[in-house]
Amino acid sequence: MLTIVADTCGRHDTLGGACAQESNTIRYAHDKRFMHACRDNFMSAIQHDHHHHMSKRDITHNINFFMNVPVTHEGVLTFEDSLPGSGKYVELRAEMDVICLISNCPQLNNPCSGYNPTPVRLLVWDAH
Ligand SMILES: [Zn+2]
Repeated sequence: MLTIVADTCGRHDTLGGACAQESNTIRYAHDKRFMHACRDNFMSAIQHDHHHHMSKRDITHNINFFMNVPVTHEGVLTFEDSLPGSGKYVELRAEMDVICLISNCPQLNNPCSGYNPTPVRLLVWDAH
C-alpha cells in the first residue's frame, strides 16, 4: 500500500501495536487508565468520519514511527528511549488510494519523550 522512500531515523516499531487504556495501565499505573491513548484516537476518528462508514473492524495493524522497541534474543519486546535528535522524518509513497489514521501519541507517561510529547508535522503532496 505504501513504500518508504526516505527514512532519517531508521528505528520504528511494527510489532507493539497502538497503545490503549489497558496497556497504559499495565505499563504505567492504574490511575493512568483514563488518559488519552492511540486506540481511543483511532476510534474517535472513525466515529466522526461519515464518508467512509468505517467501524472498529477497519482498524488494522499500525506502525509506530520513531518508537524504539527492540526484540531481545529471547524474543521479548522492550521499550527503549527514542533515538535522539529532532527533525527526523519518514517519507512514504502511496502505491494506491489509502486512508491513514495518525495518532501523535499523547502519551504523557512515557519517559522516552521526556514526558513531553511534541507536535508532528505532516506534509501531503500529489506526485503528479
Ligand atoms: Zn499511543
